[in-house]
Amino acid sequence: MYSNEKLLKQMIKRRRDFHRYPETGWAEFRTTSKIAEALTDAGLGVVYAGDFVRPEHILGCNVDIEAQIKRAVSQGASPKIIEKMKGLTGLIAEIDTGRPGPITAIRFDIDCVDTTETGEDPHLPMMLGFNSVNANSMHACAHDGHTAVGMALAELLFQQKTSLKGKVRFIFQPAEEGARGGFAFVKSGVVDCTDYFIAFHLGLGNPTGTVFGGTDDFLFSTKIDAHYKGVGAHAGAEPDKGRNALLAAASAALSIHGIAPSPDGLTRTNVGVLNAGEGRNVVPPNAYMKIETRASTEDAALYVYSAAMRILIGAAEMYDVKLTTEKCGEAISARSDRDLAKIVMDTAATVIGVDTVKLIQPMTGSDDACWMMKKVQNNGGKATYIGIGADTKAGHHNNHFDFDEDAMGIALGVLYKTILVLNG
Ligand SMILES: [Zn+2]
Ligand SMILES: [Zn+2]
Repeated sequence: MYSNEKLLKQMIKRRRDFHRYPETGWAEFRTTSKIAEALTDAGLGVVYAGDFVRPEHILGCNVDIEAQIKRAVSQGASPKIIEKMKGLTGLIAEIDTGRPGPITAIRFDIDCVDTTETGEDPHLPMMLGFNSVNANSMHACAHDGHTAVGMALAELLFQQKTSLKGKVRFIFQPAEEGARGGFAFVKSGVVDCTDYFIAFHLGLGNPTGTVFGGTDDFLFSTKIDAHYKGVGAHAGAEPDKGRNALLAAASAALSIHGIAPSPDGLTRTNVGVLNAGEGRNVVPPNAYMKIETRASTEDAALYVYSAAMRILIGAAEMYDVKLTTEKCGEAISARSDRDLAKIVMDTAATVIGVDTVKLIQPMTGSDDACWMMKKVQNNGGKATYIGIGADTKAGHHNNHFDFDEDAMGIALGVLYKTILVLNG
């Protein structure tokens, strides 16, 4: 049933629709509206993030909410549903069977990557006309697929409600990119009292047909926004009167990429954005940077984050400009529980289209689902992060990224069958 053509076709249709209208973190108004519409039509109740996320736990929300809502409505979101969202994106839905049994929560991330989709051939989304119409926004990490799979899974399990026990909770999380939404959702209690927690990702460098029951070695990560404020001046007549924010930022960017390695674990840094200056003949009075640090251990994470902050402060001192920083995203590491990963692995082996099953994949990225995994594990529950292989045309976050849609059928099959084992 899970792998039938009709379900796959519907997932592909929805995935392409989300791909056409991608929304960045905390701006997923249209996406949330479409999920809510489908799930309520199917009979599920939904609770919007606006009703449970506390504002003080939100990281890195710097979108123009009104403008994003306006765009979402012009692209087909329901104004009625948007009103219910109270300015926050994401939602949870739950199947309560009314019978005693475990509580299982599954996380689906719904946001896009801040990059502009390629307009070059050959790129399937462009050839078939579902390429992104939103500037600097592209589903380049397969979260459009995750969302479509989550909707199909919720609908399918709801139809099987009478043969399930316990509760199954579907978490549609905003702002995974930049590690911003997971923390707010966990702090709001979305995985409290959960016995099993599952997250999954399509692709990750694995081919279609390969499934990993779990994932380890997520990198700790911290995201920093930095603003330098200097003084503008005539670059010819009075350069000495200016305070050059561009040079402070440029100097900091180079030094951050030159942070020495740590014996406590591997580290990574990236200055992904540097915008500075106003005019050719004006000493640049402002600069803005988006920075991230990552590390394989807690000690190394503290080291690389502290070093980046020290460099930012030092560059401000050097160029006599003012610095303000904001921590706008954070993720920790987590390990999949072996026994739960084994259940997934054994289940995956029975799913049509799966040819290779493995217990644990190492991860070279970060995911704020780790907040949820850790929380559940600390409360005595089990958690795993499933890897569903999908052939891709380019690496994640590259603007030529596209994945093999058949992998959504595999993902649905693996998740559906796993829930039947846990809650059946
Ligand atoms: Zn990503
Ligand atoms: Zn991703």
